[in-house]
Amino acid sequence: MAGKRYLFTPGPTPVPPEVLAATAAPVLHHRGPDFKALLAETLERLKLVCRTGNDVILFTASGTGAFESAVANLLSPGDRVLAVSQGEFGERWQKIAGAYGADVVPLSYAWGESPRAEDLAAALAQTPADVVFLVHSETSTGVVADIQPLAAVAKEAGALVVVDAVSSLGAVPLETDAWGVDVVVSGSQKALMTPPGLALATVSPGAWERCETVQTPRFYFDWRRYRKAAGAGSTPFTPAVATVAGLHAALGLILAEGLEQAFARHAALGRACREGAKAMGLELFSPDEERSAVVTAILTPEDADARELVLALRDRHGITVAGGHGDMASKLFRIGHIGWFDIFDITTALAAVELVLGDMGAQIERGVAVTRALEAYAQTVAA
Ligand code: PLP
Repeated sequence: MAGKRYLFTPGPTPVPPEVLAATAAPVLHHRGPDFKALLAETLERLKLVCRTGNDVILFTASGTGAFESAVANLLSPGDRVLAVSQGEFGERWQKIAGAYGADVVPLSYAWGESPRAEDLAAALAQTPADVVFLVHSETSTGVVADIQPLAAVAKEAGALVVVDAVSSLGAVPLETDAWGVDVVVSGSQKALMTPPGLALATVSPGAWERCETVQTPRFYFDWRRYRKAAGAGSTPFTPAVATVAGLHAALGLILAEGLEQAFARHAALGRACREGAKAMGLELFSPDEERSAVVTAILTPEDADARELVLALRDRHGITVAGGHGDMASKLFRIGHIGWFDIFDITTALAAVELVLGDMGAQIERGVAVTRALEAYAQTVAA
């Protein structure tokens, strides 16, 4: 089985065969009736997954493109924004808003911490803002923020609420309308089980109002162009038609499983991964809580460089896990479990980590991680 590869990263993620097959179908012309029907159904399915009645805009871009679209359509230069950061992607909100000339007030936590609604309320009381940017699942650390109370205090303070759900959409609950989230941005390559290349933004009536009045120049990411084209069942520019076909198929699979079932599966996989890592004697960097169901960030034992572990897993076993970002690169590795994952993906990843860390000199009892992960999974599923 030389060359067999396993992708256990929190994006891109493995893509089911039905989705791969859809991406390989003959290319449709984007102005033809077949594609129009496909696009319309894809947008309807996205609304169900985002739990919104608001417009959904689909871009040919990575998730960061949808970030940039939110900044360009919601902010004029000088507008005050509060950007909450608990890792790499919160910092990205701060950087993009800054690049567009916004007056950015950061509310920054140490990597690995979870943002708190009372801190946001206090920050907004001190410095009111037009827009609040939040990250739902901070993929760099494994923290999944409790969005509902954060969105509530931002709304209470009169701000629009924008949420990065790039790695959370379809994996953990996100009630866009019920929680009053004005804009959700996400990407195709995570829990949506589709190759990279598509990004989306949901836009509330309040967000449309701001979009109409802001002064920032925009073209490719001008939401109004997408709304106008959608009225005619189309897109303003040539979309990645094959990837849209894949996304359509993937959303069909997600809805057939059922969102609640998908959330429960992710929670059980997260629990299994954390329990397995702890049984191996490793320390978690991710919080050990139910919500942390997207990616498990794990610290390597002292003297074991995480970069060496990640490379050895790939070179010796064909297994790709993610390393740590920035300063954490030598200390941390991350096992993703979003999208098309089951318990045997988790046990495979844990077994390989155990093997390689053992080779690197760590004192690890063989077999306990897999046993404990299977047990924890069974307990969570039965509960
Ligand atoms: N936000 C989060 C939480 C992410 O995990 C990522 C990608 O890993 C992004 C934003 C950026 O998305 P992209 O790399 O598709 O531009």
